[in-house]
Amino acid sequence: MTTVKTSETEHAAPTADVAPAAESASVDLPATATGAEIAGLLDALARSRVGPETRMQCKVCWYVYDPAEGCPEWQIEPGTSFADLPDYFTCPDCGHPLSSFIPAEEND
Ligand SMILES: [Zn+2]
Repeated sequence: MTTVKTSETEHAAPTADVAPAAESASVDLPATATGAEIAGLLDALARSRVGPETRMQCKVCWYVYDPAEGCPEWQIEPGTSFADLPDYFTCPDCGHPLSSFIPAEEND
């Protein structure tokens, strides 16, 4: 039995002063993977780490999407999880797509 918790990072070992590096997703892709397959893998990878209340941050401009607030620019209702955002959603600040978002650090 393995219990996987993804939201309780507050009790992790203190690693102060570590800048929230914009981690690039690393997955082993078959050499024959098509663009669509790669996108699907990255999408699955990203969503597997994203819970319904996970705040997501644009790694380009650091805009944060907070599910509790939604996104007025896109008429996204408060309470909409990142995984439920429409495919046409892009960063309201810089216009980059969903794939540019990473889980936001909970530093406070
Ligand atoms: Zn952005």
